[in-house]
Amino acid sequence: MQLTNQSYQIQGVNVLDIADEFGLPLYVYDADKIIEKIDALRSAFDGVNLKVKYAAKALTNLSILKLMQLQGIDVEVVSVNEARLALMAGFAPEQVMYTPSGNAWPEIQEALELGVQLNADNLPLLEQIGQTYGDRYPVALRINPSLLDGGMAKIQVGHENSKFGIPNQYNAQIRAIATKYGIPIIGLHVHTGSDFKDSNTFLKIADVLFEMAADYPDLQFIDFGSGFKVAYREGDYFTDLPDLGAKVSAAFRSFCDRYGREVQLCFEPGKLLVSESGHLLVGVNVVKENPTRTFVQVNSGLNHLIRPMMYDAWHTILNVSNPTGTEKSYDVVGYICETDTFAADRQLPEVRPGDVLSLENAGAYGFSMASNYNTRERPAEVLVYEGKPYLIRQRETFEDLIRGQVDIFSEKLRVKSEMLEQTLLHQ
Ligand SMILES: *Cc1c(COP(=O)(O)O)cnc(C)c1O
Repeated sequence: MQLTNQSYQIQGVNVLDIADEFGLPLYVYDADKIIEKIDALRSAFDGVNLKVKYAAKALTNLSILKLMQLQGIDVEVVSVNEARLALMAGFAPEQVMYTPSGNAWPEIQEALELGVQLNADNLPLLEQIGQTYGDRYPVALRINPSLLDGGMAKIQVGHENSKFGIPNQYNAQIRAIATKYGIPIIGLHVHTGSDFKDSNTFLKIADVLFEMAADYPDLQFIDFGSGFKVAYREGDYFTDLPDLGAKVSAAFRSFCDRYGREVQLCFEPGKLLVSESGHLLVGVNVVKENPTRTFVQVNSGLNHLIRPMMYDAWHTILNVSNPTGTEKSYDVVGYICETDTFAADRQLPEVRPGDVLSLENAGAYGFSMASNYNTRERPAEVLVYEGKPYLIRQRETFEDLIRGQVDIFSEKLRVKSEMLEQTLLHQ
């Protein structure tokens, strides 16, 4: 979002006009930002056979998935329903990688029947694949590199106490199962979930996979998952893509030489691709001056963006209606009946009732983690594409909220009110 001529704009469209047209609260995504991130990632890894798989769980709207497809991106999913969404968005089954983490076998089998690529994260699952499909279903393996980085407390890399992946120490057991059934192992994968800024830490993880790879002659790809750190505020560290790209590409090329042929290098960014593109626009209901603090109470809350309350995440907030107002300190809070703080003691240009605020960096794990808590509708979603805002999801309605509920007491209540009427008549 850019401040131009004293108004905030996305691709030249005034954000206040978007708010007027589609109503508040509203998620707005900037397609250009997504494309810019994809390009940055690609140019950082120029010179290797790179495949980017978008981690759909960050933001699952079908139009976003289709936008990814337009950019030549594949997709990574974590549930059978995300797999269905990806196919609905037009991805071919082989472009969809499914990474269950402890999902039930019937769900996994449903996904496999759709033909998607499986990334297995435990040994019993590998055994089950062998028993069910013999050598007919090629799989990738999610490996836990059992590496706890000594240096920085913040980077807790796929450590051995994490639930994810098959510990690399079990390489012999993996090979035993794969050999028993002849299961083709076509990919090695690691996703640590950590935010890495230190490319050397990352290279250590890569080495674990490179070493294991020697035991698997059929590999088509090595997938390093995600973990790209995004800056949420000025001064935040973020992954230095060109630096990471140069180091990892060099290491990867020399690995391919040793391996004897070229394989694909994959990443699965979620946050990196969509976080910055997203803005949660909210309206100010009340400005409440208490003796010690001034609360800005907005028409949204943790039901729409849970990251501040769940992860203590910091989201930049802009006063879109009054960008040049005098700065004051505010607590920006939601309308949920719970402590529901978006930002405490935040300096903002003077906020007035009716102002539109924007919570920045709200594209990833914003709408996709939204709920109906307090019986509130989830917001509409808008995508700004080629200079025009498009509605890509309607705002929910009250009917949406009660759909699926089954009423078992209507007859009893009718009888009760009839009896009450009779009693009144006979008095
Ligand atoms: C969530 C997830 C990602 C994406 O992580 P981000 O931090 O959003 O980039 C990638 N791979 C797997 C397996 C995931 O579960």
